[in-house]
Amino acid sequence: MQESEVVILRIGHRPERDQRVTTHVGLTARALGAKGMYIAAADKGVVSSIEDVVSRWGGAFFCQDTVKWRSCLRDWKAAGGIVVHLTMYGLNLPDVIGDIKIHKKILVIVGAEKVPGEMYGLADYNVAVTSQPHSEISSLALFLDHYFSGQEFRNEFPGARIRIIPSGKGKQTEEL
Ligand code: SAM
Repeated sequence: MQESEVVILRIGHRPERDQRVTTHVGLTARALGAKGMYIAAADKGVVSSIEDVVSRWGGAFFCQDTVKWRSCLRDWKAAGGIVVHLTMYGLNLPDVIGDIKIHKKILVIVGAEKVPGEMYGLADYNVAVTSQPHSEISSLALFLDHYFSGQEFRNEFPGARIRIIPSGKGKQTEEL
């Protein structure tokens, strides 16, 4: 069976105020099974924070900034992928996730401030994680969990230098 390739495209990132949220978008994506994140803005600080986590905690997650979002979408589609735009104005997640699961190569768009109107037409699916306003981090987490059907909890992160030994009480880690 073909392995899924889910990559995030973060648009509207403002380096002076979105660094923390964009970093958390990337960490959430990595932890829940995505392969990488493109940022449609220049921000080496976010890239190096994510790369630092990858070098310690393993896996092959990539983070690339200064991406032009229109050409990113065009190249993704030309390579056979589909585009899912997370927006509260879209169709509700449980109603479309069955159709989306058929696809294995998915670019997930999350915004920061107002998303350009043309995005709604360019996306193959505009998906709402409820029709209420909340956050790109929560909407991405729920989308990935539905897409991977909970299997992302079993993912391994090869090359890690540290790992957590799950514990009911306290904190246990192991240096590898
Ligand atoms: N006000 C902005 C707009 O109208 O586009 C949205 C700002 S919101 C804080 C930032 C991002 O969170 C959105 O671009 C979207 O990707 C995501 N988001 C927020 N609520 C959502 C929801 N209910 N469903 C899906 N995505 C959501």
